[in-house]
Amino acid sequence: MAYTTQFADEAETVRLHWKNGTIPIALSTSFLKQNPNLKPDSDVISVVQRSLKTWEKVANIEFELVIADEQSVSPSGKSGDGISLITIAQTSENLAIFGSDTEEVSARTRIFYNGKGFITEADIILNPYQQFSTDGSIGYFDLEATLTHEIGHLLGLAHSSVFGATMCAHQGKNGIYNLPNFSSRTLGEDDIAGIRALYGAKNTEDSCCGIISGKLLLANGKAAKKFQVWAEETESGRIMAGVLTNAEGNFRIEGLQGGEYSIYAQALSEGKFSISAEELGKVNVTKGKTFILSQKLSGGAKNFDVQYVGFNGQISELAVPINGGKSYLVYVGGKNLDPNNFKIGFNSPFISLTPNSITRHDYGAELSVISFEIKVDSKTPAGEYSFFVQSKNNETGFIVGGLTVESFVNPWNSYFLLGDE
Ligand SMILES: [Zn+2]
Repeated sequence: MAYTTQFADEAETVRLHWKNGTIPIALSTSFLKQNPNLKPDSDVISVVQRSLKTWEKVANIEFELVIADEQSVSPSGKSGDGISLITIAQTSENLAIFGSDTEEVSARTRIFYNGKGFITEADIILNPYQQFSTDGSIGYFDLEATLTHEIGHLLGLAHSSVFGATMCAHQGKNGIYNLPNFSSRTLGEDDIAGIRALYGAKNTEDSCCGIISGKLLLANGKAAKKFQVWAEETESGRIMAGVLTNAEGNFRIEGLQGGEYSIYAQALSEGKFSISAEELGKVNVTKGKTFILSQKLSGGAKNFDVQYVGFNGQISELAVPINGGKSYLVYVGGKNLDPNNFKIGFNSPFISLTPNSITRHDYGAELSVISFEIKVDSKTPAGEYSFFVQSKNNETGFIVGGLTVESFVNPWNSYFLLGDE
């Protein structure tokens, strides 16, 4: 699974993106006045500049930031006012864009584009019913994480199904897992591949980019549609990119740096039992080349499902932030998970399971939850990692990107339980 782009047409052939050149962005003065939605003393301009820079650094994009008196999103239609505005003003136009979704949504981005699929304007509206901070305050959305995600939309990216990617649909407030939610401030490799698929790398990136493309069929010969296909760096197990198959079972992973990748596929979890995950093979990606990987999947149905990850007793769809050199108690939620019949595994040599640490928890009849302790090597590169649940019959389900190795500190490690360092 992983990054997706936005399209100009129903058939999804024309990808939305900006024409080459500098993208002008206007920051509304609503950010600079006293504003009940912003924690006082937040250094807004630096935060906006940093979140633009985060994308500029990895792809062939440039922004120009100005301050503007405009307050409101352009009304929906063929074209807007030509100003790509970032605003937090409590105007009726901005309030209206959230409809009844005022509780959980941090922001929305409205895009205008022409017949050729070139984006002509994109307005980012921070939810005026919500509060934002820059210091990790509990109950606030993180301003930088929110803006970095929305700038991804402004550039033409849609949501990724990699947990832990900046473009993942699920963006929580500070306080989930009793942690600040800074993960989306930094891009995952999946976000980087997605933006390079649209704009290419910065010229200095010599080994970028290559493509893996192919078609997946089910064992019965029908198209494997809505399957997650993802690429892990073979050496580290880090998730580098992924996509979903279309209705014909076709997939195409662009924006990959040169290197050796292990490719996996599994049916998108939709809360029901589906087909067991499997490894499709190893691929050597080189710049400017397309590697074709088409396969008939051998996997049969599995009689369990994994859908959620968790930490500190909370279950959600947010990746668990972890640090190298520590141990953590991680939860996984789904259907039909029994600690006696399953093992937990990792593709990364940097992450291992503490023996005999799998425990069942009672979260009611609808959800089955188990926890396990992981040990993270101090040399683990930053990025997103998967773990899998596997039955005695080798039926396998992955939480793709459920663990994210971050530089900000997760203090809730079980160091004292282990006492081995
Ligand atoms: Zn979004």
